[in-house]
Amino acid sequence: MEKLLQLLEELHAKGALDTSAWCTLFAAGNNEAFRAVAAEKARKLTLERFGNGVFVRGIVEFSNYCVNDCLYCGIRRSNKKTERYRLDEKEILECCETGYAYGFRTFVLQSGEDRFWSTEKLCALVKNIKTQFPDCAVTLSVGELPEEDYRQLFAAGADRYLLRHESASSEHFSMIHPANQTLATRLECLSALKEIGFQTGCGFMVGTPGQTVEHLACDMAFISSFKPQMVGIGPFIPHCDTPFADAPCGNGELTLFLLSLCRIMLPDVLLPATTALGTLLPDGRMQGILAGANVVMPNISPMEIRSKYTLYNNKNSADPGTAGVLHSELQKQLSLIGRQIVIGRGDYGDRAC
Ligand code: SF4
Repeated sequence: MEKLLQLLEELHAKGALDTSAWCTLFAAGNNEAFRAVAAEKARKLTLERFGNGVFVRGIVEFSNYCVNDCLYCGIRRSNKKTERYRLDEKEILECCETGYAYGFRTFVLQSGEDRFWSTEKLCALVKNIKTQFPDCAVTLSVGELPEEDYRQLFAAGADRYLLRHESASSEHFSMIHPANQTLATRLECLSALKEIGFQTGCGFMVGTPGQTVEHLACDMAFISSFKPQMVGIGPFIPHCDTPFADAPCGNGELTLFLLSLCRIMLPDVLLPATTALGTLLPDGRMQGILAGANVVMPNISPMEIRSKYTLYNNKNSADPGTAGVLHSELQKQLSLIGRQIVIGRGDYGDRAC
């Protein structure tokens, strides 16, 4: 245990580890007592930085059309069983209005790579949201775009951008994506986003088919060097209409452990307790908060379209209500663990309380 505790100290002090040290830590993730020690350290760092406040973001899943075919994704282009939909600008603004009334001050606009929603249209949408809700942040999660398009979206007022790198190993990246999608392009997009000035989020799933501990070490090393403002780490959960339908789910405990390691490595990072974690584990989001997460992102899309944005099976069990119900349920759950929702944008560098 002493050697492991030293590794946690080293991770915190240097913000980095070498591959063999990462692999030693991951192997120790099987040890419940050590996971508890890591969670305790991560939780302490989170409380020091953010007090007992938790940032919330309302996700609006505005289109499930996608030109891509990621092998793990339920709304991939090849899934002909998905009933496609897209919200129009008025419907998206209504989601923001409802979310705003319940205290959401960040809206995350998420979609597949839907070419209908051109950069021009997205810019107009972002400008409208920022005009109507000037005290809110807009996060975009709409995939890979040319650098110039990212610049236009930033100029239109978008504050943050989420683009999971999915795997920092090109070998593993190519096992879970078709040949026309490459890690090199994904990483170019991420560096462009950060360079432009977006608060940028990367991330990956734990337990995607073919993933090894060396791949995970590669992911953590990438996050260490890229220093994103946000990191999304959730368990892999299969979708029945994808090539990975029969693959097992990722390990929830290992996911929680990685959240703790991420907090220890990057103490200021915005770290969500993801929807997938909430789907896989009972009280998964609260467990995520206790492991070092400080953000929760409930789904505030219209109820009638939620079942169509199924990246993986059972996703909707995590967010079973309207924006108002979710907000008050979340507040209740957080108060049971001594935390509370912060009404505010929750930018990188903000203290919650
Ligand atoms: S993960 Fe994103 S880019 Fe890939 S198929 Fe799904 S929606 Fe499209």
